[in-house]
Amino acid sequence: MSDNAYPHLLAPLDLGFLTLPNRVLMGSMHTGLEEAPGGFERMAAFYAERARGGAGLIVTGGIAPNPEGRIAPQAAMLNEEAQLTGHRRVTAAVHEAGGRICMQILHGGRYALHEAAVAPSALRAPISPVTPRELSGAEVERTLADYVRCARLAQQAGYDGVEIMGSEGYLINQFVVPHTNRRDDRWGGMIENRIRFPVEIVRRTREAAGHAFILIYRLSMLDLVEGGSTWEEIVALARAVEAAGATLINTGIGWHEARIPTIATIVPRAAFTWVTRRMMGEVGIPLVTTNRINTPEAAEEVLARGDADMVSMARPFLADPEFVSKAAAGRADEINTCIACNQACLDHIFAHRLCSCLVNPRACHETVLPIEPARQKKRIAVVGAGPAGLACACTAAERGHEVTLYEAASEIGGQFNLARRIPGKEEFAETLRYFRRRLERLGVSVRCGHRASACELVEGGYDHVVLATGVTPRIPDIPGIDHPKVLRYAECIEGGRPAGARVAILGAGGIGFDVAELLTHPGAESGSEIEAYRREWGIDAAYRSRGGLAPEGGRSHSPREVWLLQRKPTRVGEGLSRTTGWAKRLLLARRGVKMLPGVSYERIDDAGLHLRVGGEPRVLGVDSVVLCTGQEPRRELLGELEAAGPAPELIGGADVAAELDAKRAIEQGTELGATL
Ligand code: FAD
Ligand code: NAP
Ligand code: SF4
Repeated sequence: MSDNAYPHLLAPLDLGFLTLPNRVLMGSMHTGLEEAPGGFERMAAFYAERARGGAGLIVTGGIAPNPEGRIAPQAAMLNEEAQLTGHRRVTAAVHEAGGRICMQILHGGRYALHEAAVAPSALRAPISPVTPRELSGAEVERTLADYVRCARLAQQAGYDGVEIMGSEGYLINQFVVPHTNRRDDRWGGMIENRIRFPVEIVRRTREAAGHAFILIYRLSMLDLVEGGSTWEEIVALARAVEAAGATLINTGIGWHEARIPTIATIVPRAAFTWVTRRMMGEVGIPLVTTNRINTPEAAEEVLARGDADMVSMARPFLADPEFVSKAAAGRADEINTCIACNQACLDHIFAHRLCSCLVNPRACHETVLPIEPARQKKRIAVVGAGPAGLACACTAAERGHEVTLYEAASEIGGQFNLARRIPGKEEFAETLRYFRRRLERLGVSVRCGHRASACELVEGGYDHVVLATGVTPRIPDIPGIDHPKVLRYAECIEGGRPAGARVAILGAGGIGFDVAELLTHPGAESGSEIEAYRREWGIDAAYRSRGGLAPEGGRSHSPREVWLLQRKPTRVGEGLSRTTGWAKRLLLARRGVKMLPGVSYERIDDAGLHLRVGGEPRVLGVDSVVLCTGQEPRRELLGELEAAGPAPELIGGADVAAELDAKRAIEQGTELGATL
């Protein structure tokens, strides 16, 4: 099986002066460890684990070449020899593990969130409060020298190469595109002048670093902003960086200020490899493709189709450091798949917290959350096979304990069995596949279709009982709540009781939004899933306009009329994830969902839902009312267990239902499993 299952993915790549063992590049991610106390030691452990797991080439998070280029005042920078010690620990650990690592050089330009921000022109980005200062001609030269010094220092630190970050709307992109570059000197105006800055970086870096040094250029191949590059300009830049000495060209998709989701779970798998494919043949050096490739099957398909020479995956390496080695050993069904939720990686970074992973809380915490063999083997009962119970049962079993997992439903998964039915959240099924396989491999005794009673748990003589029994949906006290037109969210999602054509959703938290997505989803349309996504978000694969935006914009329609309601006066959806919430709000608004905050519910009857909006009475003549009004902890076993012996452990929703999400459930389950 081994090598033959993914012949393209596992094929070596000859770069002339060295050969990479496979076609997998672990893409750059800022983890927060770059700036954390003791961060280099933790980064060394983090990257070494990924190198051992078979990543062909690793790229670090972005490091600024000078103070102005830092994204935030304290962001990591490499501009003097005194900073090399920490980097050397990282490169040594990766090399010892048999891997190769490049350092990304990132200058934020106008995205830098501090007063010293600079850019080709003094134009503020729509997502930033800071107006940058325009670089003088002499300062452009100095910035070029800073890039080259940074690359040389990276080489001295033992990195195998550097990646020049030329996409996502950072400084280099700002030079390339007329929309952000209004200069009239040799760095602005016609295309030859606008691309001079990146081309000079590559040329001078190659000159300084010599032949045997990997130089990746991350090229923005689809800007997704108005006034972005034309396709012809992108090809011209690709050819120029090749001529200037780049080893590989990596694909960048979308500026940070673009209003199109490019990596969220609602983006179909491999939705952007067509962009890299357009570039194939335009240059002679290998091309790397990217975005929402999260399984070896998807990666293999992309390479076999000829869309690229290599595949970049970033978040999949947070979810599973052994992605490549498992694939190579014919154990792809054991891979912990990234579900593209952003909840513990990007959302953490935007909140100035350390990066981790919802499905793998050990990511970036390798040194602080070790899973070690138990000193004494114990018998453990875990009640509830939702994310919390699954994580706890598997972690405890991995440490050598004898674990019995009780689940009342006919299958494992808890609320993930609802989540995976939401359009765009199909990836959640992968987490259940992963846990199912892991339970099997570890020999956990799984008793599905069995509602555990306190009596049997006590009589079972377990050393520990863990209650991971989750939540029960909250039923609000509204007159008419028993009316036949009222549905609980689970009934609506499972499809047992279909919603009508006009629907009011009570509660606009994560589940209310998901139910709105489900009810307004356009359903099967002509063309592929990727074409439907492009159509809905207004992406033009023909590049008729600059930036690849469809001139007619995105097109959406909904099969239902939907109201999404909340009592709070704040903006509906304000509490959603920072990096994906905006896209959910935008999509539902396009589909005509009416979002009403500040409502009070009066009653439900044959006429519909009676409410007050801003004190004014109103009747929504709806056919269905779906309750998404939060949850309460489910702990009916707690009292009896406490009375009979030592208190059970509580995790996930059974512990605290408020603010519960799968991230906390899995983290709590893993942490408990690691200490029992
Ligand atoms: P649950 O998942 O509720 O599991 C508890 C399990 O215990 C159930 O399977 C139940 O049958 C079982 N059980 C209860 N009593 C017994 C008993 N006596 N004996 C045996 N078994 C018992 N979270 C996110 O982080 N991101 C998302 O994008 C996201 N999307 C969601 C979308 C939807 C539509 C829904 C409904 C939820 C979503 N969630 C999401 C929330 C997430 O699924 C929950 O936070 C998580 O499942 C809670 O895990 P848990 O293990 O504590 O409880
Ligand atoms: P939630 O986010 O707490 O939302 C509950 C909603 O119900 C709120 O909008 C609340 O708004 C309303 N509500 C609460 N009590 C009410 C009452 N007595 N009467 C009427 N309305 C009431 O919870 P959830 O949507 O059930 O989601 C559960 C968890 O799963 C969340 O913590 C969430 O993070 C997670 N989840 C995450 C995602 C994701 O994409 N990241 C998706 C789904 C779920 P008002 O009180 O203002 O009316
Ligand atoms: Fe993927 Fe979510 Fe983990 Fe981020 S937190 S790596 S998106 S599974």
